[in-house]
Amino acid sequence: MNIVLPLTGIVLLVGPSNSGKSTFLKHLVEQGKILPSEIVSSDECRVLVGDTEFIDWHRRNKDEADALYNQYQTISAEAFSLMDSLIETRCRLNKLTCIDATHLYPDDRKKYINIAKKHHLPIVSIVLDIDQSELLERDKTRENPRGNKRIKQQVYQFKKEKRYIKKEGYLATYFISESKDMEVIRRTNHP
Ligand code: ATP
Repeated sequence: MNIVLPLTGIVLLVGPSNSGKSTFLKHLVEQGKILPSEIVSSDECRVLVGDTEFIDWHRRNKDEADALYNQYQTISAEAFSLMDSLIETRCRLNKLTCIDATHLYPDDRKKYINIAKKHHLPIVSIVLDIDQSELLERDKTRENPRGNKRIKQQVYQFKKEKRYIKKEGYLATYFISESKDMEVIRRTNHP
């Protein structure tokens, strides 16, 4: 399978935690297919605004858990606001932006489809479709584990959505699973 990245516009990564979105983009940087500055990541925006990419709010004490959950939601909301502003600006400057976040809900994806449309730029989606068992296994060894409950909720949402993603209006949609061989090509001109 060939994945064709546009010269400019948006590459929208879609997939639950641990599906390998950041790892995939890191490899593209290592291969010289994209620049580090062409990645905008929700985890990094959380660090920029709130000094942390994730807060595990699960605690026995309900008050403590609620406070941590609220803190995470506040940081996330600010992080997405920063992220959207960066993406909008990059589109205005006719740049390529690869967006690294889960994008499991239709409204989250629609937002970026609309930004691309507004700037007359292409948007492609890359969907990482990895078995739940593998996602849970990867969580055991990652930094800042997301927790089984959260991952299972994300997989449930992803499964509900994945068949509709193709029809949402992308120039192309690519599904990546563990077994697929693929080559990524970066366009050097507009089609
Ligand atoms: P999140 O949405 O939570 O940021 P993500 O989809 O960006 O997650 P990564 O950060 O790329 O996922 O990877 C999460 C963990 O899974 C890391 O520890 C990473 O090393 C591991 N991982 C990613 N891809 C693979 C792979 N193909 N095989 C094995 N482990 C992997």
